[in-house]
Amino acid sequence: MVTLIVTCVQLSADYQHTKTGIDNELMAMDLTFGASLASSTWRFQGDVQKATLTGISNLPVVTGVKIEDPQGRLVLALGNIYDGNGKQIHVDADGVGSPVTADFLNAAIGHRFPILYRDEHNVSHDIGSWTVYSSRHVVVKKVAYGFMLILINSIIKTLVLWFIFLYVFQRWLGTPITKLSSFVREQDLNQPGTQQDIALPGKKQHELHFLADAINAMLASLRKHMAQNRTLYDELQQEKESLRALNKSLELRIAERTRDLAQANEQLRLLSLTDALTGIPNRRCFDQTLEQEWRRCARNGRPLTVALFDVDWFKHYNDQYGHIAGDEVLRKVASMLQQSVGRAGDTVARFGGEEFALIASDTDTEAGLSIVHKMCDAIFSLHAPHALSQFGRITVSVGVASCVPPAHGGDINTLLQAADAALYRAKIAGRNQVVVAE
Ligand code: GH3
Ligand code: MG
Ligand code: MG
Repeated sequence: MVTLIVTCVQLSADYQHTKTGIDNELMAMDLTFGASLASSTWRFQGDVQKATLTGISNLPVVTGVKIEDPQGRLVLALGNIYDGNGKQIHVDADGVGSPVTADFLNAAIGHRFPILYRDEHNVSHDIGSWTVYSSRHVVVKKVAYGFMLILINSIIKTLVLWFIFLYVFQRWLGTPITKLSSFVREQDLNQPGTQQDIALPGKKQHELHFLADAINAMLASLRKHMAQNRTLYDELQQEKESLRALNKSLELRIAERTRDLAQANEQLRLLSLTDALTGIPNRRCFDQTLEQEWRRCARNGRPLTVALFDVDWFKHYNDQYGHIAGDEVLRKVASMLQQSVGRAGDTVARFGGEEFALIASDTDTEAGLSIVHKMCDAIFSLHAPHALSQFGRITVSVGVASCVPPAHGGDINTLLQAADAALYRAKIAGRNQVVVAE
């Protein structure tokens, strides 16, 4: 664009310069031909006039010439001129005029000069005028060669500048930038140990060298941070692994603890239901079992038998043999009572102190009595000596009570009180016997 503008300015200046030159040339013609034309016109020398006009029209810058009388009438003309009506015509050597289609280039440009004649008395006479014509075409023809030179000059300069630009761009910018970009693209920051830097050829004063240094510094910093990140990541992974292992072992330990706890709970539950001295169900267990069996027999309409056993003269036994021996006897009695009941539904429990109890569900009085007698016989067969008893050994008195628990209402305590009352009666009646509640 710049070259084009400069070239246009040059062309236009050249055109203007040439046009001015031609104008000056035309103006100067009055000096050359004015006197001759004045003299020949004054003297009516038509041949001289015509010869002068032919000479003028043959000049390279002239396209036409005409002479007019003082009234503006055309006297003589040659070449392209404007007639009195302002129309452009071509007049040949024989004086014949033909119309000309004037375009931009060949439109006539005229310079009019008066024809002044000075006589011998030095008086000036205006005897007409003459006009010399040129055209833009003449100017263009004259400047054509210069135009060509300017154009070729511009094209060569432009091409050379373009090639210089390309060479410089490629040499100083293109190659280093390509090198830099491919270097940056090849960098794999995840690969440890690739510590290479980029080095551009040439002295370190080019802006691209500064860019390369900045890229090297940035990459070094990135590599450092990536390495730190990798280390952190590895540490995190290790931490994660150890946490996972810890979690696993914690889960195992929790599961173990939960199992232990469940076992302990079960043991506690059993303990809470077991009598510590004898190892058989305790009073609480007795109460719970009795309630369950009561409801079950009530549902099924089946009889339930309860028996209360009380060791005879046990206070005396303690007094005679000591408390520890008393405990031992209680253990033996408990064990014997438990062994004597055969059915899974029968429960023997320590009722309190030296008292024991039997719950026989789905059992009426008769069947219950048979079990209780078996148990009493077993105790008797222990032959546990008791010097202060009239029987000479450990015996028990038993109160038995049976009922079919009513579906609605009814009271467990009433059954227990009945059994207790029967037991009381057995004691009164001489001990070592079984009494059934009324
Ligand atoms: P009875 O024939 O009228 O039942 O006379 P008893 O002496 O057996 O009755 P009493 O209720 O007067 O005495 C019960 C005794 O049982 C009193 C107490 O010292 C003893 N005893 C209660 N529990 C235990 C125990 O766990 N171990 C021992 N060694 N003795 C106990
Ligand atoms: Mg008692
Ligand atoms: Mg007793």
